[in-house]
Amino acid sequence: MYDLLIKGGRVVDPSVGLCGNLDIGIQQEKIATIEPDVAPEMARRVVAVPGTIVTPGLIDLHAHVFEGFTRLGVHPDQGGVYAGVTTIVDAGSAGCATFGGFPKYIIPQCQTEIIPFLHICQTGLATIPDIVAESSIDFDGTLRVVDRYKGLIRGIKARMVSPALEIFGMEMPRLARRAARESGIKLMVHIGDTEKRYDPTIIRRLLPLLEAGDILTHYFTPNPGGVIDSNGRLVPEAWEAAKAGVWFDTAHGQANFSFDIGRRIIDQGLLPHCISTDLTIPGRLRTVHSMTEMMTRFLALGFTLEQVVTMCTANPAKAIGLDERLGSLRVGRQADISVLKIVEGDWIVYDVLGASLPAHQAVLPVLTVKRGELFRPEWGPRPWGWEPDPGPLSYKTCC
Ligand SMILES: [Zn+2]
Repeated sequence: MYDLLIKGGRVVDPSVGLCGNLDIGIQQEKIATIEPDVAPEMARRVVAVPGTIVTPGLIDLHAHVFEGFTRLGVHPDQGGVYAGVTTIVDAGSAGCATFGGFPKYIIPQCQTEIIPFLHICQTGLATIPDIVAESSIDFDGTLRVVDRYKGLIRGIKARMVSPALEIFGMEMPRLARRAARESGIKLMVHIGDTEKRYDPTIIRRLLPLLEAGDILTHYFTPNPGGVIDSNGRLVPEAWEAAKAGVWFDTAHGQANFSFDIGRRIIDQGLLPHCISTDLTIPGRLRTVHSMTEMMTRFLALGFTLEQVVTMCTANPAKAIGLDERLGSLRVGRQADISVLKIVEGDWIVYDVLGASLPAHQAVLPVLTVKRGELFRPEWGPRPWGWEPDPGPLSYKTCC
């Protein structure tokens, strides 16, 4: 007997070659079967999802969910299970001086899985700018906190911005890299300086520092320090980094995603590996709302649904080294599933510069399953007593 049966959707998981009408049975928080036409009597609860796409649980590789500790942080479930996303990487909202808030006050209060990366700046993003003096980096403290929360913190984050680079120069990303290497975890580096103060060719010195498994985020940034040179060509070091196994992530955020830059990169053939939001409170209101909105942008850029799904599931799972548990639909895996709908229409999506792109398919979250538990995505604040409209879904519940 399955605890839950997701029935009648079109399963799309290119990482394991699944594409077709299949039902997914879940038992004890794990995927127990993926096959056509499972009898409803086999499950305690059946959710019929005809007309939907069923994918591995979406992973947002770059967002900010240290709610209450930084002004940027959204509630994890707002960008997570209530937006079709099962796992969020918090990209360095906390540093070693503030990280304790995550396991004590944030992680126990949400249903979305959080994978925190630790900022090399000891106060994380509690204040912006982050690094303002040499004392902003506590290298030994950073190592101690990673060691204390081993297994929880999966990466170190560094931001190639001003004034960190005026204060430290390239020593800043080198310290972050050393902390990552000595701790045996990943390095994620933000590129694109919104202050437009440092030498834009610094990318050519940064990329050779990155090694297999490291993550470059804001791949489509239009700001100085991006991967496109003054002639509109990808810097040669980007090709070398890709060859070396560096992950290219396209976090959008408030200021670091441009269709024009994206097109130049795509036309030169060095495709990104991952899609993410860089979700923040102000960004959510102005520039990027959700992972499904990012999926809509990438469909509009001409990526196939299979490519988009891979960039939101299997690839980020590999990038954080959790692909044994997350990012694909296989029997025995953690039951993290996103049920999405593709709505045809005449839509427009925008980048951070205000450039528009017509989209003919919009991706909407319909249901989220996290460790076998069902969540219905909803949209923003609702009046007291509001009940979600069950829509086209039908439920059978028994005990
Ligand atoms: Zn960010």
